[in-house]
Amino acid sequence: MRTLIVEDDFIARTIMQELLKDLGPCHVAVNGVEAVRAVSAALAAQQQYDVICLDIMMPEMDGQSALLEIRKLEEAAGFAVGMGAKVIITTALADKENIMRAFRNAADTYLVKPIEKAKLLECIRGFGLVA
Ligand SMILES: [Mg+2]
Repeated sequence: MRTLIVEDDFIARTIMQELLKDLGPCHVAVNGVEAVRAVSAALAAQQQYDVICLDIMMPEMDGQSALLEIRKLEEAAGFAVGMGAKVIITTALADKENIMRAFRNAADTYLVKPIEKAKLLECIRGFGLVA
């Protein structure tokens, strides 16, 4: 399982990386701009990410905008809807507007911080990516 963690906070990013590193390559991006670049490079190399953990509040480009761009890149790369990366929104924002917007932008799951290990792993298992 190839994972991309997109998170501007060092501590949050490191905790998630520690949680997921045993499941396969686990890359990090510190904002939406880096995330879009990472996804673009991964698609070009035909090594697309299986899972993207995506924070919303980040400098440069926020997670909602990054998600839109990522879905566009996947579409351009020939991925049918639902066949791209599984996107788990990992955010402190729990308002209805952000939640609805994320799902409209084709997020797969929405987790509110603090992110619990069991919850995160359960959600990844739900995707059928790990046993
Ligand atoms: Mg943040």
